Amino acid sequence: MIENWLCAPDRMKWVTRSKKKGGKCVFCRISEGDHDADSLVLHKTRKFMVIMNLYPYNTGHIQVLPRRHAKSLEDLTDKEVADLSILVKKCIKMLKKAMDPLGFNVGFNQGGDASGASFEHLHVHIVPRFKTDYGFIDIIGGTKVLPEKPEDTFKRLQVHKKMLK
Ligand SMILES: [Zn+2]
Repeated sequence: MIENWLCAPDRMKWVTRSKKKGGKCVFCRISEGDHDADSLVLHKTRKFMVIMNLYPYNTGHIQVLPRRHAKSLEDLTDKEVADLSILVKKCIKMLKKAMDPLGFNVGFNQGGDASGASFEHLHVHIVPRFKTDYGFIDIIGGTKVLPEKPEDTFKRLQVHKKMLK
C-alpha cells in the first residue's frame, strides 16, 4: 500500500528549529557531520555534498551544495562551479536511473530569504517531476502529497549512489 505523506506543515517547524541551533547554519552542521540535523546525506566529497532533506518539494528532491559556507556562486572558484555542475549532472543521471521521472526542475537558491531559501548557504535544488505531480489535495490544501517517505526514497537512491563518484 502506498502511504501518502504531507510535507508542508513540518517544513516550517524544521526551518524554525534549524535557525535556532548554535548560530551555525544547518548545511554547515550537516557538512561537519551533525547527525541531529534533519537531512540525509547521500554523498560527500572533500568540497561538496548531496543531501535529501526530510521535507522535500517532491519525491526524489535532492540538493547539491558546497560543504563550506559559500553564500553565492561568486564565492566559488571557476573550478568549483565546474565541479558542482558535474555533480548536478551525475545526480540527474542517478535520479533518472532510480526513479524514471519525466523531467526536472533544477535551480540555485542564493541570497537567503530574498531568494525564498531558508538558508543563505548556497545550494542547488534538483526536483524530479512526474506525470502525476499534482492532485486535488495539493491544490485545495496548499500541501504536497508525496507517494513515499523521504527516508524510503533515500534507501532507493542509496542503491545508485555510486553513480555520483
Ligand atoms: Zn553554511
